[in-house]
Amino acid sequence: MTALGSDLVLAGEDVLRYCRDWHGDVTTGAVAVLRPRSTEDVAAAVKACVDLGLSIVPQGGNTGLVLGATPDQPESQVVISLERMTRVRRIDPDDFSAVVEAGCILSEFKDAVAKEGMFFPLALGAQGSCRIGGNVSTNAGGVNVLRYGMTRELVLGLEVVLPDGSIFNGLSTLRKDNRGIDLKQLFIGAEGTLGIITAVSVKLMPEPEQVATALLGLNSLDDAIALYRRARRDCCDLMSAFEFMPPLAFVLAREAMPDLMMPIEADYPAYVLMEMSGSGLVDIDDLMERFLETVMEEGVVADGVIATSSNQSRSLWLFREGMNEGQAKRGPHLRTDISVPLSRLADFVRDAEAAVLEVVPDCVNVSYGHVGDGNVHLNVLPPSDLSPEESAERIYKAKKAINGVLDRYEGSISAEHGIGRLKRSDYEERLPDVRRKLLTSLKAAIDPAFIMNPGCQLNFGGNS
Ligand SMILES: Cc1cc2nc3c(=O)[nH]c(=O)nc-3n(C[C@H](O)[C@H](O)[C@H](O)COP(=O)(O)OP(=O)(O)OC[C@H]3O[C@@H](n4cnc5c(N)ncnc54)[C@H](O)[C@@H]3O)c2cc1C
Repeated sequence: MTALGSDLVLAGEDVLRYCRDWHGDVTTGAVAVLRPRSTEDVAAAVKACVDLGLSIVPQGGNTGLVLGATPDQPESQVVISLERMTRVRRIDPDDFSAVVEAGCILSEFKDAVAKEGMFFPLALGAQGSCRIGGNVSTNAGGVNVLRYGMTRELVLGLEVVLPDGSIFNGLSTLRKDNRGIDLKQLFIGAEGTLGIITAVSVKLMPEPEQVATALLGLNSLDDAIALYRRARRDCCDLMSAFEFMPPLAFVLAREAMPDLMMPIEADYPAYVLMEMSGSGLVDIDDLMERFLETVMEEGVVADGVIATSSNQSRSLWLFREGMNEGQAKRGPHLRTDISVPLSRLADFVRDAEAAVLEVVPDCVNVSYGHVGDGNVHLNVLPPSDLSPEESAERIYKAKKAINGVLDRYEGSISAEHGIGRLKRSDYEERLPDVRRKLLTSLKAAIDPAFIMNPGCQLNFGGNS
């Protein structure tokens, strides 16, 4: 390891900050943390780990919520952090593309691209800390998926250091390329189990010059889904975000940010934060106003407020972001990341919330999220005064109840956060044999020594 140079290697107490999950719930350890500055450094680091019989946990911004980027076997695992590989290698406005190193923080990449009048549409609450390589490895979603797709749909090419230290160079910026099997797809969403992504080429869009944000009060989740369908049809696909929140969202957000002012006076059973955006000759404000006039006349929307400045728009989004912090402040709780077909979402939420209250009647449900994508975070908050053991018991029972309902609806236990170590057993329990066989063969072909992120996603039959 010392052959890599002391500048690249952290050991002892210094490793701990890389071994703690984002919520601070779990802290482990590692043999060392390696912080390469280049793709060649990453390749040398991987070869050193192979020679020493150590396995590797790749890490980006460590904002993942499923324990994928932190070791679980401190005596045999090394963290390779991409935090020093932050260069934007190229922005090509004429080709609507860019090439960026895996360690670049998402918001910094978006800022660099905006300076060229371009837009990278991936947008999530963690964008000030998560890194592009982590986004690709988790196939991150976020608030703009309904218009621009998941990260997979934004990736044109990848550069990856493979588990034997060789470099796969697939950094093409071609939009159309059907030369056989598209190998880059194997690494997107692989959560570091097949190699280390060192650089990414991505699609860019024209920067939206106009953005209209509205917060709407509605009478039910069913109305919110009807509104979403209507907006998809009536707004020329210019809707870029559609977030559902229950009334509790505002309470939680203000527990975390007491200065937030309620933007709508009356209380409603459901709220939607909706955004439309565009560039060029369209009139987005007019479109939003006319659309809301119609749906309010029809009674789909009960009340609403449209932001009149970017500051006001920002403060509407703070409710959506603050509610996560508010939940964290209430102590340990169940966080889920579920998807079902949109047409079944309202029924699913009703059934799953009822199933939770049957087994843990003293807990509180909070269902919210990127509802346009059929994606809901049905979180469960135990009372704050319980002991850690009592909370853990409630969380376990609530998760079982939700997953039971989810299986009936044929939904996914991970709409966007991935599997990591946290959801591995829930994933494995539901994995059909043929799929398991394919995944195991793929892993054995690319990582025969099972050194890449053991314990993450699946027990592939190696050392996890
Ligand atoms: C407040 C908050 C809001 C969030 N909102 C969303 C959301 O809306 N949508 C969403 O999808 N997620 C969301 N997340 C989850 C998280 O931000 C995303 O999963 C993000 O893409 C992780 O990026 P990261 O750089 O932090 O990755 P990390 O947490 O460092 O790693 C995630 C996984 O990818 C692997 N990995 C990281 N970098 C590489 C690499 N270069 N090569 C190979 N493997 C690698 C790790 O080993 C790990 O398995 C949110 C998280 C927080 C804290």
